[in-house]
Amino acid sequence: MENQGHILLVDDEPGVRAACRRVLEAEQYHVVMASTGEEALSVLQEQAFDLILLDVVMPDIRGIDLLEPIQKHDPDTVCVIITGYATVELAVEATKAGAYSFLSKPFSSDVLLLTVKQGLEKRRLALEARRAQALEKEAAKLTRAKEEMERLDRFKSTFTLSVAHELRAPLTAIHSLLTALKQGYIPIEQMEHILTRATVRVDELLALVDDLLRLAVAKSDRQTRKKKIVPLADLMEETLQLLTVEADSKEIKIICLISQRPLVEAYPDQMTQLWSNLISNAIKYTPPGGNVAIGLDENDGWAIGTVEDTGIGIALEEQDKIFEEFYRTPQARQMQPRGTGLGLALVKQILELHGGTIEVSSEPGKGSRFSFWLPVAEANPNKTKDRRS
Ligand code: ADP
Repeated sequence: MENQGHILLVDDEPGVRAACRRVLEAEQYHVVMASTGEEALSVLQEQAFDLILLDVVMPDIRGIDLLEPIQKHDPDTVCVIITGYATVELAVEATKAGAYSFLSKPFSSDVLLLTVKQGLEKRRLALEARRAQALEKEAAKLTRAKEEMERLDRFKSTFTLSVAHELRAPLTAIHSLLTALKQGYIPIEQMEHILTRATVRVDELLALVDDLLRLAVAKSDRQTRKKKIVPLADLMEETLQLLTVEADSKEIKIICLISQRPLVEAYPDQMTQLWSNLISNAIKYTPPGGNVAIGLDENDGWAIGTVEDTGIGIALEEQDKIFEEFYRTPQARQMQPRGTGLGLALVKQILELHGGTIEVSSEPGKGSRFSFWLPVAEANPNKTKDRRS
């Protein structure tokens, strides 16, 4: 017959130990004995038990004081206190402290066996409940993972659909222009105009593909390159130089306020992209004669960049959506029919990749303010920070 349970018997009376052992072993329990508290503790260091029969009064330690180390070892070990008539109160105390039950001396072998059997049944149920709990937790984890995968799958499908849609419009336009050219329908004097239109559409396509590639790189979790210590202010000034022609052509005044020149640990091309997308949007969505203000500061371990404009603004209900791929507000579409709708998605992704965040505040018709936070390099480049903590 197989072993019915692993039992530790702790009692300082040799007679009690021998009698209990005999009864228990006859029923195929495996019994280990200890005559003192200290001995019990040392056995417990080496072996695990299903059930412990514990004398409440021993010369060195009170049985009750063993309950804590036993439960620490294995909270599901069942403890049965052995007690004499004079120590029933102690046994009650022990039950309150976590002992399963108690046996009053003298007890018959039937009572001993019944108590042990019930104790072991309690342990079996407790272990089963624990296993069921662990399984439930695991199942909940799997459900969450499955939901996340389904969400990603849905996102992938929508994304692919949007990419195909966005690519199709300029390609169709180029296709019809080339077909008209090929069939000789275009009078020679219109040729240059048609070719220019085709080039514009090709440029749009290239811009879209470039943005898609940059987004894919920023989203990829396998970054093969190493980040560098980057001066954010220098990159902003370089970017600004490239954009002044566009601003001048719309007579937009650019004001620059650099309070501090923080260093960040980053991919330099992505920092340039960050500034470029935010500043070019500000110029793009501000009517002629408006203002764009760019700020850079450092506070509490964060580099804080701001790009503010006096442009068309963004309605409150659209302020979250503009960071989604391909989303463009109706006002923006009206003002600038062309646009990939990927610039801010890329900005958000770049900031996430660098442990940063972005916020927008805006009022339609008045202007917008984009503020971003990046951890400064000196603070601790490897630490993920929570700006709101
Ligand atoms: P795109 O500029 O190509 O449309 P973005 O991803 O850069 O794409 O921006 C997404 C949308 O967010 C824009 O279409 C516009 O509706 C809105 N937006 C971004 N920046 C501004 C801004 N400075 N002022 C007003 N609207 C803005």
